[in-house]
Amino acid sequence: MRSMMRGTEGQWRLIVNHRSGSLEAVLASTRRRNLAISFGILFVLAAGVAMIVVATRRAQRFARLQMEFVAGISHELLTPVAVICSAAENLVDSVVETPQEINHYGAVIEKEGQRLTDMIQQTLVFAAVQSRRKRFDFNLVDIAEVIRNAMESCEPVVREADVDVALQIDLGLSAVMGDQTALTQCVRNLIANAVKYGRDGKWIGINVRKASVKRSDFVEITVADRGRGIPPPDLPHIFEPFYRGREVMESRIHGAGLGLSLVKEIVEDHSGKVSVKSTLSRGSVFTVLLPVASSGGTPQERRT
Ligand code: ADP
Repeated sequence: MRSMMRGTEGQWRLIVNHRSGSLEAVLASTRRRNLAISFGILFVLAAGVAMIVVATRRAQRFARLQMEFVAGISHELLTPVAVICSAAENLVDSVVETPQEINHYGAVIEKEGQRLTDMIQQTLVFAAVQSRRKRFDFNLVDIAEVIRNAMESCEPVVREADVDVALQIDLGLSAVMGDQTALTQCVRNLIANAVKYGRDGKWIGINVRKASVKRSDFVEITVADRGRGIPPPDLPHIFEPFYRGREVMESRIHGAGLGLSLVKEIVEDHSGKVSVKSTLSRGSVFTVLLPVASSGGTPQERRT
C-alpha cells in the first residue's frame, strides 16, 4: 500500500486561478490599462497645449492685424482729408478761376468726402457689430429692392470706373426675413469690391435668383467680376476682419479690410451663407445665400 501511495505521489497538482486568469495575466492587463490611461492623460495634455499654442498664435495674429488696421485706416483717412484740404485751399486762394475748374474741384471734394464717409460708416458698423451693440431690425425684405438701393449708392464709383453692369433679377422672388439696411450694406460692399478689384475687366455681373439647397429655399445673390482674381493663399483669410491681400496692398488699392468681414457677419446673422470662387487674372464670383421667409410668397403679395 505504502509503495502504491509512493507510486502515485506527485500525480496531483492543485491549480488555483483568479477568475480573470493567472496572476501574471492580471498584472499584465493592469499594467496595460494603466499605460493606456497614462497615454490618454498625456494625449489630453498635449491637445490642451496645442490648443493654447493655436489660440496664442491667433491672438498674436489678430493683434498684428489690428495694428496694421490702425496704421492703414489712419493712412486711408488722411489721404482724402489731404485732397479735400488742398482743393479747398486752391479755391480760397483763388488759384481756380474758370467755372469748369471750380466744378472739377467741387467734384473732387465731393468724391473724397464720400470716400471718407463710407470708411467712417464701415468702421462704426464694424465696431457696433463686434461689440454686439448692433441689433438688426428684422422685417420682410424684398431683395430686388435691396439690390436697387445698393446699386444706387454704388452708382458714383461704377460711373467713375467706367465698368459695364449686367444685372439680372428673377421675377417672383420670395421675401427674406432680414434687416434691409444691413443687407443693402452687404451687397454694396460686394459691388464696391467688384468695381475696385475688377475694374480692369470692365464688367461686373449681379444675379439674383431662387435656389434650393438640401430641400430648403433660398434667395441667391451673386456678384461677379472679371478682374485680378484672388491669389489662393489669400482665399482662406479674406473674410477675416482687417485682412487685406498682399498684392492689393502693394498695388496701393485703398481699403481697410473690413468689407468682407462685415458681409460674412451680416449674412450669418441672417442664417445665410457667403462663399467665393476666384481664378487669378480671370475674376471672382461671390455668392450669398439667404433663406426665404418661412411662410413663402413675394413681398408684394404680402403687402396686399
Ligand atoms: P478691403 O477691400 O478694404 O481690402 P475687404 O474685406 O472688402 O477689404 O476685402 C478683403 C480682401 O479680399 C481685399 O483686400 C482683397 O485682397 C480681396 N478681395 C475682396 N474682393 C475681391 C475681388 N472682387 N477681387 C479680388 N480680390 C478681392
